[in-house]
Amino acid sequence: MLSVRQVTAGFGGDRPALCEVSFDLPAGAVLGVAGEPGSGRSTLTRVLTGDHVAHTGTLTLRPRDGGPEIELRADTPRPSRAERLAAASPRVLDTADPVLTPRQRHADVLVIDDAPAGSAAALARLRDRYGFAIVVTCTGPGALRGVADEVAVLYGGRIVEHGRAEDVWAGPHHPHTIDLFRGRDSAAAPSGGPGCPYRARCAYRMRVCDDTDPALDLITVGDGGTTMAACLQYDRDVPDPALLTDRRTAGLGSPA
Ligand code: SF4
Repeated sequence: MLSVRQVTAGFGGDRPALCEVSFDLPAGAVLGVAGEPGSGRSTLTRVLTGDHVAHTGTLTLRPRDGGPEIELRADTPRPSRAERLAAASPRVLDTADPVLTPRQRHADVLVIDDAPAGSAAALARLRDRYGFAIVVTCTGPGALRGVADEVAVLYGGRIVEHGRAEDVWAGPHHPHTIDLFRGRDSAAAPSGGPGCPYRARCAYRMRVCDDTDPALDLITVGDGGTTMAACLQYDRDVPDPALLTDRRTAGLGSPA
């Protein structure tokens, strides 16, 4: 199990590249991290593998060999860290039967940044063969359909939606997730100042979105389960009916 808590990382600019990112990754599970270029997805993979050390927050790992829990600090030596969280090039997914190095095979978590479309089968083969957990990033969450157990969507360095993959396929909740499913990506920077960072691009923007920055909160989904979304639509008793309709039409139904 990898536990990531409140990780914030940057490169010295006004806005951190990654802001208070938290998630738990169970042993052997696949977390798909979706986001446009500039969303923070590559910074996240670099923090995990120790290639970017300028961060706050904590990473703890319970090794799959039953060893004691390890805290992965910014000053943890890279060789010992890479034995636990190993980076792999997305090119290993170019074939249906990927080949890994011995260090990658024995890692607790394999980290792959920017997986190409159509790589779900190769990822599933890796997970099934070697038993490690996987953190894999991509632009659109649909690329990981059928292999991801959970999906987190990054925008402006923050997680704006995180839930079970089957719930995201069935009906994404955050307007940005809906836009990613529909291929509406953009290089536009998140809105600054008070208010929701997504408001300039959001088709469901309300007046309150101009001065309130939504937190990532638990919301109830169809079967009584929960997922997380950072959107003020879910703070209201009666969300915009247009959003509910678009959630359904953007969803991809049951995983294949
Ligand atoms: S809080 Fe408002 S602007 Fe932000 S994603 Fe939700 S509806 Fe859109």
